[in-house]
Formats: sequence, structure tokens, C-alpha cells
Amino acid sequence: MDAVVKTLSIKHMQQTVEKPKPVVRPSREEAEAAVRTLIAWAGDDPSREGLLDTPKRVVKAYDEFFQGYQSNGTDVLDKVFEEVAGYDDMVLVRDIPFSSHCEHHMVPFVGSAHVAYYPSEGVVGLSKLARVVDVFAKRLQTQETMTAQIVDAIDEALHPRGIAVLIDAEHMCMSMRGVQKQGASTITTRFTGVFRDDPAEQARFMTMLQGYRAR
Ligand SMILES: [Zn+2]
Repeated sequence: MDAVVKTLSIKHMQQTVEKPKPVVRPSREEAEAAVRTLIAWAGDDPSREGLLDTPKRVVKAYDEFFQGYQSNGTDVLDKVFEEVAGYDDMVLVRDIPFSSHCEHHMVPFVGSAHVAYYPSEGVVGLSKLARVVDVFAKRLQTQETMTAQIVDAIDEALHPRGIAVLIDAEHMCMSMRGVQKQGASTITTRFTGVFRDDPAEQARFMTMLQGYRAR
């Protein structure tokens, strides 16, 4: 019982802020005990054969689901390339798939992120933009916070002339429980710099997202 209470209070402390505060993690054994408690809460017997190794697997899966706490976003974007032959037009990485967990119900939300920026001091490797999405997705999240955090990390690392991020996701807490609306998608956007100040730039971003699909 002790272990369960401890685990819950630690999760409560894990707020989704820009830089996660270091928290005292429970031991792996304590985390597995908490999973056994939840299995019993669901109404099943944690000691039956099929469920014996489940706590171990769940805790291991958590290592993967929440590995974003091991990184802060800007460290992923630390290598900036300045030699781009004067390229200063929009860089857009579209359809970056991600899976995250909502911080209110701890169930998945899955979707795509689209990330664009106008370089000023240099560019980052394209895969790094996808990785920065993962750093923030692999935490307990709200889609709104995640959108803002991706923008802030790119801004801090690159100081570009503008950033546009659009996230489109389906939340299992809306489709599997509560209002049970399957297929409803939630879209969040954040624009900075030229994207915020010039509606034509926002329109161009949206056109590039939807338009050119010759591939
Ligand atoms: Zn939720």
C-alpha cells in the first residue's frame, strides 16, 4: 500500500513544464507493485498466469513511453549548420508521426506534427526536428503544451525568423471513454515571427501542408 501511495504522489508532482523538475523516482519494484494494484483495480487477478509478467512489461513500456523526460529538447537541436548556400526560405517537415499520453487520463493520443521555420542563423538536421517532437511527445502531455514546447525549443536553438507548428491528433480519452467520439481530431497551432505577423505566410504554410503531394 505504501508503495502505491508514494508512486501516485510522484506522478502528481510530474508537471509538464518546459524543463521537467528532477523527481525522486520509485524503484522498479515499487512501480511493478503499482501496476499489480491497477490490475486488481480493473477487476482481474494479478497472480494469474497470463498476468504474472505484465507489471514487468508495463514498467518497461513506460521507459519507452516517457523517455522524453531524459532530454530537454534544445540538446537535440544543438548542432546548427550555417553553410546552406544562402538558403533562407521556409523549411517544412510534414507528417511527423508521434504518440503521446494525455496527462489527465494517461491514455494515448496519436497523430502528426508539422514543423516549419524560416532560417536566419542556420539550419538543423531535418531528423532533429522529428526528434524534438518525440522529446516532448514522450511525456505526460496536453497537445497545447506540446505544441508550445516544440516551438520554444526551436526558437531557443535556432532563433529563426519565424516558426509554425501544427499538430493534428486523436485523443483516446475522447474516443475510448467520456464522450466516446471516435475519429474526432484536435488541431493546435502556434506561429511566431513572420508566421505570426504576416497572414500570407500562415496561408503559405497551410497551402504547403495540404497542397503539394507529388510523391
Ligand atoms: Zn485525457
